Amino acid sequence: MGRAIDIVSLYPKDMNIYGDSGNVLTIERRLALYGYEPRIHAVNQHDPWPGHADVILGGGGQDTGQKKIIDDLYARADTLRALAEDGVPMLMICGLYQLFGDYFETVDGARLDGISIIGAHTVGRDVRMIGNLVEHSDDFGDVIGYENHSGQTFLDDGVRPLGAVDGDGMGNNGEDHTEGARVHNVIGTYMHGSLLPKNPAISDFLIRAAAERRYGAFRPESTPAARDELARIDRIAQRAREAAQLRPR
Ligand code: GLN
Repeated sequence: MGRAIDIVSLYPKDMNIYGDSGNVLTIERRLALYGYEPRIHAVNQHDPWPGHADVILGGGGQDTGQKKIIDDLYARADTLRALAEDGVPMLMICGLYQLFGDYFETVDGARLDGISIIGAHTVGRDVRMIGNLVEHSDDFGDVIGYENHSGQTFLDDGVRPLGAVDGDGMGNNGEDHTEGARVHNVIGTYMHGSLLPKNPAISDFLIRAAAERRYGAFRPESTPAARDELARIDRIAQRAREAAQLRPR
């Protein structure tokens, strides 16, 4: 049986801030430790779409970066929508999370239509929402990361958030205590960090969904050394999670 898993890194040139590319490295590393053959396809503007897309990862970006990639994103919208409906796992952080919604109205009044994979809209405001963030997710337990955005995102009725923030975390909009969104196997979130190194449960969700869709099942084949390495990485993640939770905003 083949063991290749094709990872699409969406717009790494323009949509990659606060360490979001660490998410791609994390998926690549964990896949290899589970005995799969990760293949990374960087898809920037005008690049061809790869023959296989098993998991799609996109990062955040400034408003200017979002304006740069938007036309290319429209050109790929049908492809991305079809893959999302077909259960391809995707993780979209901040700037791309906003553009996976219906629209983003920037603080200077520009309106960027999104590609409506996630039922949500975003309105920029002049106060940025910045800081470490802990949210509670039914699916993944405590999710830990870092937010830095001006956009306030509001989910449509019935759209499931990724989690709930407490304390002084802002999350989607600083008003309703929601953070992120989940549609099919698509996760949208404001969590930078990088997110995945600190949240192995989300990494493994994306990997499992990718393997199941492509091969019918997730079958890790780890050598003893790979199992030790996974345990070591998870211990480091645990320490990073504890340290981040103690840091004030
Ligand atoms: N430009 C968007 C905002 O500030 C996204 C920022 C980001 O990706 N961190 O709301």
